[in-house]
Amino acid sequence: MPNYILSIDQGTSSCRALLVNMEGQIEKICQSEFTQYFPEPGQVEHDASEIWATQLKVIKELFEDSSYDPSDVLSIGITNQRETCLLWNKESGKPLGRAIVWQDRRTAPFCDHLKQEEKADFIKEKTGLVIDAYFSGSKIRWMLDHYPEARALAAEGKLCAGTIDSWLIYKLTGGNHYTDPSNASRTMLFNIDSGTWDDELLDLFDIPKSILPEVLDTDGDFGSIKDEYLGCSIPIQSAIGDQQAALFGQLCLEKGMAKNTYGTGCFMLMNTGDQRVQSPTGLLSTIAWKLTGQSMKYALEGSVFIAGAAIQWLRDGLKLIDESPDSEYYALKVEDTQGVYVVPAFTGLGAPYWDMYARGGMFGLTRDTDKSHIIRATLESLAYQTYDVLSCMLKDSEMKIKSLRVDGGASTNNLLMQFQADMLDTIVERPVVTEATALGAAYIAGIKASCWTIGELRQNWEKEIAFAPQMSAEKRAIHLKGWAKAVSRCKDWVE
Ligand code: ADP
Repeated sequence: MPNYILSIDQGTSSCRALLVNMEGQIEKICQSEFTQYFPEPGQVEHDASEIWATQLKVIKELFEDSSYDPSDVLSIGITNQRETCLLWNKESGKPLGRAIVWQDRRTAPFCDHLKQEEKADFIKEKTGLVIDAYFSGSKIRWMLDHYPEARALAAEGKLCAGTIDSWLIYKLTGGNHYTDPSNASRTMLFNIDSGTWDDELLDLFDIPKSILPEVLDTDGDFGSIKDEYLGCSIPIQSAIGDQQAALFGQLCLEKGMAKNTYGTGCFMLMNTGDQRVQSPTGLLSTIAWKLTGQSMKYALEGSVFIAGAAIQWLRDGLKLIDESPDSEYYALKVEDTQGVYVVPAFTGLGAPYWDMYARGGMFGLTRDTDKSHIIRATLESLAYQTYDVLSCMLKDSEMKIKSLRVDGGASTNNLLMQFQADMLDTIVERPVVTEATALGAAYIAGIKASCWTIGELRQNWEKEIAFAPQMSAEKRAIHLKGWAKAVSRCKDWVE
């Protein structure tokens, strides 16, 4: 009988469920988008009940025809959009309000207050993070202060707070409240040296420890899913934040290996091994994973908030294209952008700028500018933002990289990948399978279930194509100078 690992990939735009066979290959994917709520400018919310229903629907779809049987699934791995968090009633399992999404800026004033109180070094020392509304801590605090019954429920021991991994674990198992260190390290409440919730940070954020999930290893025993969902009980044996999962899925398992995921946002992570690297340039030190019996592994991370989302904006906001891949067709119609730059700072700027008040801009427009130039400039903005992050990463780590492994939806765009290689002056390598996030969660669950070893997995990475830099140094410098100028005009825009 063939066996499988079920990978649950709960992303920002959609829920996916995948079956991975014993060779580590994806056999089937089911995917469904869910609603994005933008209640006010700068605010982004998800309905956690809808996420759960959508996730369960795609899991069940995997087994709708008779090709696959749930009883052949040995283990489940979960990976999820990080930082997005919610509060729910421990007894009824009902969310107290919508989940606040990682892109949401509503807690910027509280973050400013922390900066004014000179807490930046204190927080960075403990968490590896830069003070920003991006992380869960300020969002959980906001929910505790704004949902009328929240603090009373917390006092009665009837409240759960958590990121999406812990929400799904709670729903799948019927009540377990767990998370893992990769997700916990994005809350700004977790000490990444000791690997525990930090009492001083909890005091600072005024968050009771009792509402937080217990932190298990990334390959912990998170419990088994209830029979009622698939007709059998299957153990959940990994939970890992999506970007760390992609690092594992790209098999960047050695110190100095890096990947960049081009999804809704863009996230570059470099494995720094047992060592936590301090970043003076605005990158984050974060937990990559913690496997049973092994030391904590760390990563250096550059987070770009808007990447593929800028292409969605061309599609849904400006209606310049029908589908995201059409961006390549239009961009290829012109030789270059004719000096046009688009800075998609729609929700502020992440690494290395960390400017919550920056907003998007379009520069260098002339009477000749047409739709193709704007589309091309928007695509190029993903590569420029990645350039900014990689430059810092190389400085901070004092390492050199031979190539950059890429994945995520927009990594399928060849024009973008070539431009990326040109801007980085580095080879960009795309694997055959770009579903690195889901694979990472499956790989870890499969190791735990004794399906394969790390050594066996290493042979799984297969290159589809490599993009080698072709642009002259002079031309590259001109491009990058224009980008830096455009970014400088977008900073500190909203009052
Ligand atoms: P996530 O996991 O964050 O939901 P995905 O990895 O599924 O994201 O990637 C989807 C994103 O990639 C969307 O924002 C979409 O606009 C973008 N995208 C998909 N295909 C292309 C393409 N060929 N060119 C540019 N952008 C693309």
